[in-house]
Amino acid sequence: MQRNTLQRNLILEVIKDLKHSTLQDIIDHVKFKSNNISVATIYRNLEVLEDEGLIRKIPTKFKASIYEDAKLKNHDHFICEECFKIKDLVKDNDKINYLNQDGDLYLSEIKVYYGVCKDCLKHRGC
Ligand SMILES: [Zn+2]
Ligand SMILES: [Zn+2]
Repeated sequence: MQRNTLQRNLILEVIKDLKHSTLQDIIDHVKFKSNNISVATIYRNLEVLEDEGLIRKIPTKFKASIYEDAKLKNHDHFICEECFKIKDLVKDNDKINYLNQDGDLYLSEIKVYYGVCKDCLKHRGC
C-alpha cells in the first residue's frame, strides 16, 4: 500500500474511533499513533477525505469544526456550551429533499443545537 494511502487510512480510522473530533483532536491522536506525520499532511489528507465524501465536516459557532465518519446517516448535533460535549440527535425523517421557491434543491441539512447538557445542569444544581 502506498504511504499516502496508509496515512489517509490512519486519519480515517482516528476519525471513526473518536466519533466526533475537532482538528486538534485528530492531530493529537494521529500523532500519538504515528510520529512522522506532519500537521500539514494531516490537514491535506482531511481535505482529500472530505472531497472524497469519506468524512463530514460540521461547522459550529465555535472556532473548531467537528469531523465525523460520512458513512453515518446525516444527523443533527447537540453541543454543550459548558463542557463542549457533542451528542448525536436522532430524528426519523432525515431525508430532506425538496425544492424551495427559488428552485434550489436541498439534499441534506445538518443542524447544530447549542445548550447545556444534563451533567453540567447537575453541577449547577438545577
Ligand atoms: Zn456539559
Ligand atoms: Zn454525529
